[in-house]
Amino acid sequence: MSDAKPSDLTKLTIAGARDMLSSGEISARELAQAHIAAVDAADPLNAYIVKTPEKALAMADAADARLKAGNAAPMTGIPIGVKDLFATEGVRTTACSHILSGFEPAYESTVTQNLWDAGAVMLGKLNMDEFAMGSSNETSHYGPVKNPWRATGSNSDYVPGGSSGGSVASVAGYAAMGATASDTGGSIRQPAAFTGTVGVKPTYGRCSRYGMVAFASSLDQAGPVTRTVRDSAIMLGAMAGYDPKDSTSVDRSVPDFEAALTGDIRGLKIGIPQEYHLAGMPVEIETLWHQGIDWLKAAGAEIVDINLPHTKYALPTYYIVAPAEASSNLARYDGVRYGLRDVPQGGGLADMYETTRGQGFGPEVKRRVMIGTYVLSAGYYDAYYLKAQKVRQLIADDFRRAYEKVDAILTPTAPSAAFAFGDKSDDPIAMYLNDVFTVPASLAGLPGSSVPAGLDADGLPLGLQILGRAWDEETVLKVSGVLEEAAGFTARPQDWWRA
Ligand code: GLN
Repeated sequence: MSDAKPSDLTKLTIAGARDMLSSGEISARELAQAHIAAVDAADPLNAYIVKTPEKALAMADAADARLKAGNAAPMTGIPIGVKDLFATEGVRTTACSHILSGFEPAYESTVTQNLWDAGAVMLGKLNMDEFAMGSSNETSHYGPVKNPWRATGSNSDYVPGGSSGGSVASVAGYAAMGATASDTGGSIRQPAAFTGTVGVKPTYGRCSRYGMVAFASSLDQAGPVTRTVRDSAIMLGAMAGYDPKDSTSVDRSVPDFEAALTGDIRGLKIGIPQEYHLAGMPVEIETLWHQGIDWLKAAGAEIVDINLPHTKYALPTYYIVAPAEASSNLARYDGVRYGLRDVPQGGGLADMYETTRGQGFGPEVKRRVMIGTYVLSAGYYDAYYLKAQKVRQLIADDFRRAYEKVDAILTPTAPSAAFAFGDKSDDPIAMYLNDVFTVPASLAGLPGSSVPAGLDADGLPLGLQILGRAWDEETVLKVSGVLEEAAGFTARPQDWWRA
């Protein structure tokens, strides 16, 4: 049963809105209108870089017709934002890089097409770190996204995390009911933790990469950001599925993720990796992790200490593998095929490449291209890239052995809460350290979530991460649901940006 119609439709959950849409208490058009206004009101967050209100209304009308005809799907009429990494037919798609300025794809990504086929309503394209490289959304060509959350009693702005900064800020700031995001080394989970939202990175191969601007193809995976675990289960169900157009997408049926939310984790074994106790980690994060252990224990899970011995090599391995793949993927931006073209007076082809790439890429992207080119070059390939590939296998083996003993793993999502703008942007290593807990599962291709679990002393949200076996998003979601319920996280940001 749904509640009485709330005064602000943007505060509904996807599950709640779905019920009210199907009972006819609200229309998809009303819901879209409320969100179009909320998108405008959220301008100070800089979460949207393209707004598509006419499209939203047309899609909402189609959703209303579908609801009336009685053939609605779970996402029918639900307004969402799309990370600018997903190609959207006829709608500017730039991965927030200047080099893709003005690029309008002639085709739609499979993940977004799946969502539109399920009846979802598109509000616009969401800001992100350039080519998804970053942990703070400070590398976007369109400027940083602001975290809707501020420290208690403060007027200063914090980063929303990255690279899916626009996705999490729009959802936390009630300017979308859910958003697509992508995670290569943590870009769904870390920003979700920084904004009190839920993010799910599925198993590599669960969602099609067709039409997703490639960063590091062996790691990139799409997933949802929402305000509740149930909403993530609903949205992931609509996004996922085999796609012959992506040779790494896997032909497995998509389970009913929502049905996995039984709330019953009695007898499940939850692993606590000892290597994730980092020296120097804020005590609040350790405390929250222990709290999470207690919550799961109280719900009937069995807590098991485990070892993931190669954890300390995960970050250096990721920061070789990901830039290597990025340097190769980004070679296609040469001024010929997409977006920007810059040719100096009287210059030849090589000058065009150089000027276009020099003008088109930001400093972080250039750094990755240089690192990647270096580790792949003759003479260094064996020492760096090949070694990293071998260590990647050892990290995957660690998880395989652990999952012989446990069903899921509980860790903090990130080693800190959201930080202030500029805090780490001059220090790439400090920025990369943000990914310490998310990168290992990415290298192993395993599913994981981040669930909002508490606030730090400054009133900023903190998340806990649940990892699972390959293809077992159901257990990840089930444990996430229990954690969400136990944490009872109801805090929300003050909506200063609407003032
Ligand atoms: N922060 C990591 C990086 O900068 C992860 C990014 C991502 O998952 N897309 O590479």
